[in-house]
Amino acid sequence: MSEQQHRHKSGFETRAIHAGYEPDPMTGAVIPPIYATSTYKQDGVGGLRGGYEYSRTANPTRTALEGNLAALEEGERGFAFASGLAAEDTLVRTLCRPGDHVVLPNDAYGGTFRLFDKVEQAWGLVHDPAPASDLDAVRAAIRPGETKLVWVETPTNPLLGIGDIEALAGIAHEAGALLVVDNTFASPYLQQPLTLGADIVVHSTTKYCGGHSDVVGGALVVKDLEIAEQLAFHQNSIGAVAGPFDAWLVLRGLKTLAVRMDRHCDNAEQVVAFLEDHPQVTEVFYPGLESHPGHEIAARQMRRFGGIVSFRVAGGEQQALDVCGRAEVFTLGESLGGVESLIEHPGRMTHASVAGTELEVPADMVRLSVGIETADDLVADLDRALGGAGG
Ligand SMILES: *Cc1c(COP(=O)(O)O)cnc(C)c1O
Repeated sequence: MSEQQHRHKSGFETRAIHAGYEPDPMTGAVIPPIYATSTYKQDGVGGLRGGYEYSRTANPTRTALEGNLAALEEGERGFAFASGLAAEDTLVRTLCRPGDHVVLPNDAYGGTFRLFDKVEQAWGLVHDPAPASDLDAVRAAIRPGETKLVWVETPTNPLLGIGDIEALAGIAHEAGALLVVDNTFASPYLQQPLTLGADIVVHSTTKYCGGHSDVVGGALVVKDLEIAEQLAFHQNSIGAVAGPFDAWLVLRGLKTLAVRMDRHCDNAEQVVAFLEDHPQVTEVFYPGLESHPGHEIAARQMRRFGGIVSFRVAGGEQQALDVCGRAEVFTLGESLGGVESLIEHPGRMTHASVAGTELEVPADMVRLSVGIETADDLVADLDRALGGAGG
């Protein structure tokens, strides 16, 4: 089957393993080599083999990753960057001009907020916050004629809020704006925003796409070819590209995304069931719970509910810190989406920068990135950390 056929007709897992690359015709190499080259021999001036002239513009390993990401998100073109934030910055420089307005999630990933608030704003971009779960608030935050982008994350971090992508696309388009969805938490396996009306998907491939906590990377996927051309121009002009080794690591990660995500979800469900019954746990945040305010929308637009779980404890901040400190199978650390389980205290760690604002997260909250270890070991570890059996 040709690459094109894989891209358009095959199931997700088949695309994850095959899209973007055909075995090398010369050597038969099944996996794309790490093309550690900056430049390419030309057959006479301007005689490019396969279109490659300089690796900032294009590199075959990166091309394979970009084709794979486009296929997984059901977009037309993908672009791979040095980090999620590099992807975001390139997107903004491509689609916005000083004086334009952007609606941001009120609880955006901290690095995204900092990028807009400290870097893009100094360049002349204006932004207003709105919770993606509140359609009226998003509508009210839009400035007709000025708003270029409506930017959402779903699920959000660390409260796992859910935005209705289809409805948000309608609201953005009605106002002449584009809908950008940061799909990092769901990954393309659980949710494909472009098929729901979004215009651009953003990824920190550092998280589930890479999946092994061994690479920092970012990506954009679009369905409009004109926007794709503009992005290609800016990707090359700004130059914040993924290097060939990083691109290769993310591509390798994507091959197992489906099986990893299913296990992340299985394990998260077991952890949630345990936490829901635990006397020291006062509230569990997981979109798979029927009590979650975004559950119905999540069930409609996501395949499953993901690997991130947050919860609050009865003993206040000290107990939350103790749980983080006592866990052993869960490693205390920031980031998420790797095969290993991570635990963190958002108030003091990932979300320390919003302390004292309306976005401050509860001090008694713990966030888990549930990995793919043996579920019983994860539950036993949390039980111990919460002061249960053996604690
Ligand atoms: C990590 C993350 C980013 C930023 O990506 P980097 O690869 O760290 O630059 C953006 N959005 C979300 C939701 C993230 O989790």
